Amino acid sequence: MLTSIKGKSVIVTGGSKGIGRGIARVFAAQGAKVTIAARGEEAAKAACDEINGSGGSATFHACDVSDWDSVRGMVDAVAKANGGLDIMCANAGAFPQTKMVDMDPAEWDQVMATNLRSAFLCVKASIPHFEKAGKGRVVLTSSITGPVTGFPGWAHYGASKSGQLGFLKTAAMELSRYNTTINAVMPGNIYTEGLQDLGQEYLDTMAASIPLKRLGAVEDIGNAALFFASDEAAYITGQTIVVDGGQILPESLEAIDEI
Ligand code: NAP
Repeated sequence: MLTSIKGKSVIVTGGSKGIGRGIARVFAAQGAKVTIAARGEEAAKAACDEINGSGGSATFHACDVSDWDSVRGMVDAVAKANGGLDIMCANAGAFPQTKMVDMDPAEWDQVMATNLRSAFLCVKASIPHFEKAGKGRVVLTSSITGPVTGFPGWAHYGASKSGQLGFLKTAAMELSRYNTTINAVMPGNIYTEGLQDLGQEYLDTMAASIPLKRLGAVEDIGNAALFFASDEAAYITGQTIVVDGGQILPESLEAIDEI
């Protein structure tokens, strides 16, 4: 049983859909005051309604995580409204699938801005609030794609997710000054709106290649994020946890059939 996070002020970027929505749900179920930061209002409002309707607390704040003014404005407004900021879950991300031969360089830049620059911006905007509170927590949503595996069409995505882990190490050192930890969850294939867009064949092939024989649930990532954000994880920083149902373990295609 983890120490309660009741009343803590938590921002979940990309909390309107998929993994972020799962993180928001898990934190709200533990009594946290959750802010969902995303661009689209409709999905974010639906996510807030679901949480508020089941006894939790969630509000929406429009934000583009690739834009400094937008991120800084959002974080400052949330801290003002909630009496501070305790936990930043920098989760928002995009994964368009385009092979390099067809990839417009602008798409590379956009993926880097959404996935990697955003991690830096979210942390930078949070620092003054963690400094004021004398403590803080950051949880990044990275991926197995990039740091551990490759997949055609995701050169930019994989680079951005590996980049997050490079950022993590120095960020952990700099944030220690503010008694703040930063860690990353590395999901495998998690059943989300974004993943559904890749088509049923992709989902079926992926599920078959996972030792636990299912795609992950968004709560599987939410629970790992909750641990990193807990008091019990106070001495863990600059670290990662793979949450993938064992997907990266098989040495060969045949190995999965031997189970
Ligand atoms: P998703 O279902 O497509 O949801 C993405 C979320 O991010 C949405 O809330 C979206 O809202 C928000 N977002 C995207 N661009 C944004 C921007 N520029 N500013 C603010 N919000 C933005 O994606 P997901 O599958 O849940 O993925 C979430 C995170 O997990 C990503 O970082 C992804 O790389 C990572 N991940 C996912 C998987 C997986 O299997 N699903 C595996 C490994 C890692 P708006 O579009 O309205 O802004």
